Amino acid sequence: MPSSLPMLPISQPPRMLRLKDGLQDGLGRNITYLRVSVTEQCNLACVYCRPRTGALERAEAPALSRNETVQLVQAFTSLGIRKVRLTGGEPLLRRDLETIVAGISPEVEGRVHLTTNGLHLAKRARGLRDAGLCGVNVSLDAAERGAFERLTRKDGLARVLAGLEAARAAGLKAKLNAVVLRGWNEDQIVPLARLAQAEGLQVRFIEFMPYQGNGWGKDQFVPADEILRTVREGLGASLEEEPVAGLEEGPARIFRLPGSEGKVGVISTLSADFCDRCNRVRLTSRGELKACLFGGHPVDLLEPLRNHASPEDLARLIRQALTDKLDCHPMRRGEDPQFAGGMWQVGG
Ligand code: SAM
Repeated sequence: MPSSLPMLPISQPPRMLRLKDGLQDGLGRNITYLRVSVTEQCNLACVYCRPRTGALERAEAPALSRNETVQLVQAFTSLGIRKVRLTGGEPLLRRDLETIVAGISPEVEGRVHLTTNGLHLAKRARGLRDAGLCGVNVSLDAAERGAFERLTRKDGLARVLAGLEAARAAGLKAKLNAVVLRGWNEDQIVPLARLAQAEGLQVRFIEFMPYQGNGWGKDQFVPADEILRTVREGLGASLEEEPVAGLEEGPARIFRLPGSEGKVGVISTLSADFCDRCNRVRLTSRGELKACLFGGHPVDLLEPLRNHASPEDLARLIRQALTDKLDCHPMRRGEDPQFAGGMWQVGG
């Protein structure tokens, strides 16, 4: 996106009625959390995310303009969405991210978060905070330079750590996310936990999930219980589990690290899923609503928006799409996941 683009004011569509019962799916789960992929493009090629070849070339420029992104988010917030996370692809590749944040933040009383690989965060953290960003999750799958480069195919650890520091200095709530793959970075679990302990940070280890073309295999899968055992043994300490937080805080089980403000968490998407408590939906940078990460048909919201759908029409489409939200992801029933693109397209 050219940097010379003027910063246009976001046009505000008429407010929809905020319904008392909020947004519920067909199974009565309250949907309060929207994850928005603002671009498919990325400046890393992490081994667990990108197909081995060709993916970077296939990533399309975002279809949604910043105004359209904000308008569609408003359609969701008017129905009861209370928290928004911007993701991708790599969201910091959008030069207009600050404008998007500024447009969304008032809609959710400042609860706008970002998931990023952190490579461009050092330069952007303060501006994003000023635009209304509240917190940032930095994806960091290795605490050592060589391991980072093997996983991401880029020598970028120092830049990510500088981005993390800048985010914290700007007053953003910062957490780390690490995907664990056997044979790639299980030896980084303890160094990452030590980093969290030393810095008073929270690191959350995520089970490796199968996604279109990402080469998932059982042999690479490390379950959450094993990750926790590795942390306990590596630190030579028992870990005290925190009480389960509200859903708005996410699905991780969180444990305090001894002698520090730092914490480790595990997100057990496959070994102990949390579908029965799912409160989230996704909007892709193509303007499609995706009700479930692993299944369900994407529903196009962009064409109706461009054809001047009324707020009520958009609300109807969103509600309709949520009646089909799956009760659990297909793998729990022993079925294959239904993909609608790679993780970088749906937004992790
Ligand atoms: N580029 C940004 C980043 O790196 O954080 C945002 C997009 S990335 C797809 C969002 C999150 O999805 C990251 O935390 C990443 O580690 C996670 N992710 C991607 N592929 C995954 C997989 N196969 N299994 C588990 N997590 C995955």
